[in-house]
Amino acid sequence: MTDTLPPCPACSSEYTYEVGGLLTCPECAHEWTLEAESGAADDGVIRDAVGNVLADGDTVTVIKSLKVKGSPTGIKAGTKVRNIRLVQGVGDHDIDCKVDGIGAMQLKSSVVKKV
Ligand SMILES: [Zn+2]
Repeated sequence: MTDTLPPCPACSSEYTYEVGGLLTCPECAHEWTLEAESGAADDGVIRDAVGNVLADGDTVTVIKSLKVKGSPTGIKAGTKVRNIRLVQGVGDHDIDCKVDGIGAMQLKSSVVKKV
């Protein structure tokens, strides 16, 4: 039965067990439900263009050239952006960041890739 249970999301322990629908990790005492885990993907998690989960402070690469208002060059594909901050931005802009040569702006997570 243990081989059908997912590893602990908190510490990756494989020794998880189920008690009354609740999954429990014996190594870090984390408890969670399968339902909560399967729904987690859309629950406030921001992913990059290839599905990596993004977090505050990550460094990302812009994967396609973007036009930027007020900038003659815009952002070129391959531009590295350090220390991003996840926000509830306008539309689907969900990354707050500072781009070298351009300044503070917001990006969509769908046009970046975690480094
Ligand atoms: Zn654990």
